[in-house]
Amino acid sequence: MKTTKDTTTAGHGGGDVRLTGISKTYGSFTAVHPLDLTVPEGSFFALLGASGCGKTTTLRMIAGLEEPTAGTVHLGDQDVTALPPYKRPVNTVFQSYALFPHLDIFENVAFGLRRRGIKSVKKQVDEMLELVQLGEQARKKPHQLSGGQQQRVAVARALINHPRVLLLDEPLGALDLKLRRQMQLELKRIQTEVGITFVHVTHDQEEAMTMADTVAVMNGGRVEQLGSPTDLYENPRTTFVANFLGTSNFIEAEVDSTSGDEVVLKAGGGKLVLPAARTSAPTTTGGKVLVGVRPEKISLTHADDAGEIPEGRNRITGRIADSSFIGVSTQFVVDSPVCSDFEVYVQNIDRDARLVPGAEVVLHWNPAHTFGLDAAQSLLAGTVGSAGVETAEEEVA
Ligand code: ATP
Repeated sequence: MKTTKDTTTAGHGGGDVRLTGISKTYGSFTAVHPLDLTVPEGSFFALLGASGCGKTTTLRMIAGLEEPTAGTVHLGDQDVTALPPYKRPVNTVFQSYALFPHLDIFENVAFGLRRRGIKSVKKQVDEMLELVQLGEQARKKPHQLSGGQQQRVAVARALINHPRVLLLDEPLGALDLKLRRQMQLELKRIQTEVGITFVHVTHDQEEAMTMADTVAVMNGGRVEQLGSPTDLYENPRTTFVANFLGTSNFIEAEVDSTSGDEVVLKAGGGKLVLPAARTSAPTTTGGKVLVGVRPEKISLTHADDAGEIPEGRNRITGRIADSSFIGVSTQFVVDSPVCSDFEVYVQNIDRDARLVPGAEVVLHWNPAHTFGLDAAQSLLAGTVGSAGVETAEEEVA
């Protein structure tokens, strides 16, 4: 059975993967800064980040394929830092399946058992082929299978060795989008069934969010934030995370007052409300906050109907700059005094024919959907545009 312990508190579980102060430098370049990370036993854990952020290096240090410059790797209570890859209870599945072309599927999967001198392999291999739903294909050669099927053989071949941890290095990278989507669900099913720890490296945020119960977002050799997909999406703590997972709109604002669970902010000439629990920025009066809101949380009302907007919603005014009908929703870009390219996704249920480029609109949303980031840090990181309080000319209604 799968366990979903909290990675931030789990620590000494029997089969946890525990990285302590692990780092990797190449000459003067640091690929992975000292990192403490616990992957709970039985979890599906994703290392997510753009190319070059250090996720593969981290995975390879767990596998033993890369020697850490400092730090330790524990599997449960065992320190495996000095062990060569083949002595670690882990297996790795790579993007290139590396199947033996001259062996059929059955023999590819049986390979690990035969190498260990095990004679009666049939039951185990049959079970493993059932698990990856390739029982019918046992006597085919790898070239007679699709890319997705070959990748499932690679997974079966790794799992038959009963590793405590399966490492997956961009395993779906070579597949087309549709097949990749199928394989994501398939891998998740397999992981749930076998219940062993999967550590998956990917640059694809949708893939990480679909499969993993915990995602570590990496940036520049560091874990920038770690949490469940929902938590990372709803409560990003940095602009990098807010933009790497989906899209976010940002407004530069200043703390006006704090009352109870709410922080009232000044932005442009108006006020916005932010739940105090949803901000990583200081909430002292005068403090700068970067207010974030996701495009799908926002409603768009034509300015003529502004009086119908319920009380208590955050609202700003703007003008539609662009709109794209994409079937399930219409994606608007709204030019507003506090953000020049506000993105708003409106589901196509009752389309308002007046919402076309040039229309004056009010954008409004439930304050509970607002998150706050430390503006000073975000500006230092160079990830915010220049639209903001100082440049605002019109009132934020
Ligand atoms: P990708 O998705 O492109 O594989 P990644 O996030 O997995 O990226 P890593 O492969 O971990 O990134 O590499 C992290 C950084 O370390 C990169 O800038 C890379 O160029 C550098 N690097 C990796 N291996 C070496 C090496 N053997 N020598 C020097 N630099 C290296």
